[in-house]
Amino acid sequence: MNRFRKRKRRKRRRVIIILIVVALLAAFLVPYCLEPGIPVLMYHCIAEEPRTGDENLYCRPAQLEEQFDYLKQNGYTTLFAEEYEKAYSARKPVILTFDDGYEDCYTELYPLLKKYDFKATVFMVGDYIDKEGYLSSEQIREMAKSGYVSVQSHTAHHVDLASMSGEELDGEFRESCANLAKATGKNVTAISYPGGYFNDEVLRQTKRYFTYGYAIDTNKYSKSNHYEISRGGVFRNTTLEAYKRAIETYSQSRIVRDWLKIYYKIFD
Ligand SMILES: [Zn+2]
Repeated sequence: MNRFRKRKRRKRRRVIIILIVVALLAAFLVPYCLEPGIPVLMYHCIAEEPRTGDENLYCRPAQLEEQFDYLKQNGYTTLFAEEYEKAYSARKPVILTFDDGYEDCYTELYPLLKKYDFKATVFMVGDYIDKEGYLSSEQIREMAKSGYVSVQSHTAHHVDLASMSGEELDGEFRESCANLAKATGKNVTAISYPGGYFNDEVLRQTKRYFTYGYAIDTNKYSKSNHYEISRGGVFRNTTLEAYKRAIETYSQSRIVRDWLKIYYKIFD
């Protein structure tokens, strides 16, 4: 009888332990799976005719306007790169980013931002300021003051960060922050890694200078991970259909997003 009771008690204890483990797993996994994604888009140049290099990096002005039209008509809220956390409480958030700091950010993008009352972030290479084809100090200052554009870092020299030592990274980031703070009159808090390349050392140094680090297609979306933020590229050959689908997919919860990715891979 005693032995029977002991066995029963042991069994009950085992069931309780299993229930606690399941509850703990669920408490972690459910919010993880249901956490929404924030669509972050990466552009480069806006020009009718490609100038040099990869022509796919040149979105047409009309293409950008068509995309902005879509965002406006569908009630999206544009946010700056440094407003990443705010995006989690915004209605239909989208973060628009433009890498390298081409002059067409001033001539093509800026007028459209004013027209649509949208925000965008230009990730500027410090060394390119005032160079031919890139933004001038005056253009940067005017846009940074306007409330439509945030100018953030794309390093000082457009280098492959993953190939640099801790000391080199420190110098690169320090110079970039100083260049941009001088040009904009504002603190620099976000960086986009050139080519999307980073490693553990890059992350360590980035955390010393910036609050947000933007990469490319990391597929890491998390409110708490500010340094491997995933961005999807928008290119000359991106159709409006593909644009809509990307934004919708990125906005979904993790579980739906992963499923959609598999679905599109199989059925497209
Ligand atoms: Zn770049």
